[in-house]
Amino acid sequence: MRLIDTHCHLYAEEFDLDRDELISNSRNLGIIALLLPNIDRASVNSLHELCDKYPDYCFPMMGLHPTSVGSDYIAELRYLESQLSKRKYSGIGEIGIDLYWDKTFLKEQLSVFEEQLKWSIDHSLPVSIHTRNAFPEVFDVIHKVGPEKLKGVFHSFSGTAEDAKEILALRNFKFGINGIVTYKNSDLPEVLKQTVTIHDLVIETDAPYLPPVPFRGKRNQPVYLREIACKIGEIYNLSLEDVAREIEINSRKIYSAIN
Ligand SMILES: [Zn+2]
Repeated sequence: MRLIDTHCHLYAEEFDLDRDELISNSRNLGIIALLLPNIDRASVNSLHELCDKYPDYCFPMMGLHPTSVGSDYIAELRYLESQLSKRKYSGIGEIGIDLYWDKTFLKEQLSVFEEQLKWSIDHSLPVSIHTRNAFPEVFDVIHKVGPEKLKGVFHSFSGTAEDAKEILALRNFKFGINGIVTYKNSDLPEVLKQTVTIHDLVIETDAPYLPPVPFRGKRNQPVYLREIACKIGEIYNLSLEDVAREIEINSRKIYSAIN
């Protein structure tokens, strides 16, 4: 079995004490690559350090997270953009709009998201999109830039069937499914079953956040990807091996840096 964690933050300080051990556990489980989206200027060095240490295993993305968009957003953007010419990235991320925590910088979030979508076009890179309480806004910006020029993943997808249909209509986007799909009160299994096929999915942990059942309350880590893959198998009535094979194909189609 081979799995790819398409979105995790293993460079975060939560992993400072046992990062190497977690990577070796994750290799032993059959996880063949970790894709690591950036947060902001403060996370760049630890992201690069990890990817330099494991160049065939840890693949960085570059971008400014929507919850890090504040009054100094222009300086942040310029710094992160300057990184793009310095090394190879597997994607632009994580980017998007988050209106759950704070709406103060909505205008700035919209323009930062739009600019980073344009980076992805200029550098021919896929995007990892974070959407929280903001599907209409995210769709508006994507349509303004041109969905046919973009490809990527709606990371941590937990929207409605209507949201799912709008994503499918964009043509070049997959759904990033994480621990949320295992939560008892989640509608996500039903939404997926009704609207989305196995060919539209990739999986991710978003570690250290959102651990799947039965690890809720703990620090999330890449090996928990297995619980997510098992749940996908239940939803689509597929064996774990079939899920892993299909999802590996989908992941490689979007993130060609791992090929
Ligand atoms: Zn994330």
